[in-house]
Amino acid sequence: MEFCPKCGGLLVPVKEKETVYLVCRKCGHKRKAKKKTSYKVVTTVTSDKKTRTGVIEEEVKISEERLAEERELLREYYEIFLETMAEQETESE
Ligand SMILES: [Zn+2]
Repeated sequence: MEFCPKCGGLLVPVKEKETVYLVCRKCGHKRKAKKKTSYKVVTTVTSDKKTRTGVIEEEVKISEERLAEERELLREYYEIFLETMAEQETESE
């Protein structure tokens, strides 16, 4: 979560076209968001404005879990890949 440099309010990620902005809900301060995986969440969230804050936190948590899962899968895949490479090397000798 990021906070407004002007008033310290919570900056809410809002997606406009392909760009994600962080918008202050208190004073309306707006700036471009840095590219972070957690902000991808915004797309699913903006449709429901009432429960927005709650949903964001939940979705971010989920996406972090997914990232961890993906990283784990990637590591497994990579290990298999390396094993296959090693096997191929020994076979060719
Ligand atoms: Zn503000």
